[in-house]
Amino acid sequence: IIVTGMVISMLAILSAGFYLARRALVPIMDAWDKQSQFVADASHELRTPLAVIKSNAELLLRHPERTIEDESFRITNVVRESMRMSKLVSTLLTLARADANQMEIHLGPVVLNDVICGIAEQFKPLTEMKGIHLAVDLTDDIEITADKERLQQLIVILLDNAIKYTPETGTITLSCRRQANWATMIIEDTGAGIAAADLPRIFDRFYRGDKVRSREQGGTGLGLSIAKWIVEKHGGKIKVDSEVGVGTKFQFSLPLAKPR
Ligand code: ADP
Repeated sequence: IIVTGMVISMLAILSAGFYLARRALVPIMDAWDKQSQFVADASHELRTPLAVIKSNAELLLRHPERTIEDESFRITNVVRESMRMSKLVSTLLTLARADANQMEIHLGPVVLNDVICGIAEQFKPLTEMKGIHLAVDLTDDIEITADKERLQQLIVILLDNAIKYTPETGTITLSCRRQANWATMIIEDTGAGIAAADLPRIFDRFYRGDKVRSREQGGTGLGLSIAKWIVEKHGGKIKVDSEVGVGTKFQFSLPLAKPR
């Protein structure tokens, strides 16, 4: 009886130990998996522009009797892809810093309307050039506690996407409202929309819904993951509603009071 009791106690201790070790290890393994996935995705994203640069440069070297047009076409490709790589590298750096908790948020009072108007002014020439109507609908004067630079980055990511995925004659509306203790900003477009199957994944790193269009427009598939990080770092929430062929509405809410 004593031996059976001892065996049962040993088994109980072992299974409890196993259970606890599993609970402690699973998050570490998950983090490790995520990290290796991130490195794999980042390498894949860097490889594409690098391959374009290499092939264009090789063609320039190998064919001495090229025309001026061909030469400028190849050089344009090299410059465009180098710019894509440099944008990607700086975005990756931002994400790596955010992961390592090395990204500081400098909170201060920010008047949302001023930020939105400033960005709208900045983007007006681009929307006009693309034949898109950019409307700004602001009523309440809302002051929040936020990192102004990050807030600008967040709105620019969402507006830039709206412009990328909205065709000529479309409309983009920027609006902002106070709702209870939240300031809610809406970026709505009458563009391509997002397929229901893609919606749950669009905030994931490197996820692109319309891969061809995203690449054509210089997208990295990282914008929305950064947008989400900025919103959450401010204690806020972000959501999206979209219908293919009708348009997309991104909405983020930030607390009016300084987050604790
Ligand atoms: P990307 O650099 O590809 O735009 P994002 O992370 O910013 O990466 O967006 C992820 C995906 O979400 C995009 O590839 C696109 O499919 C979709 N998306 C984002 N914003 C919009 C929008 N306003 N209209 C349609 N699709 C959008």
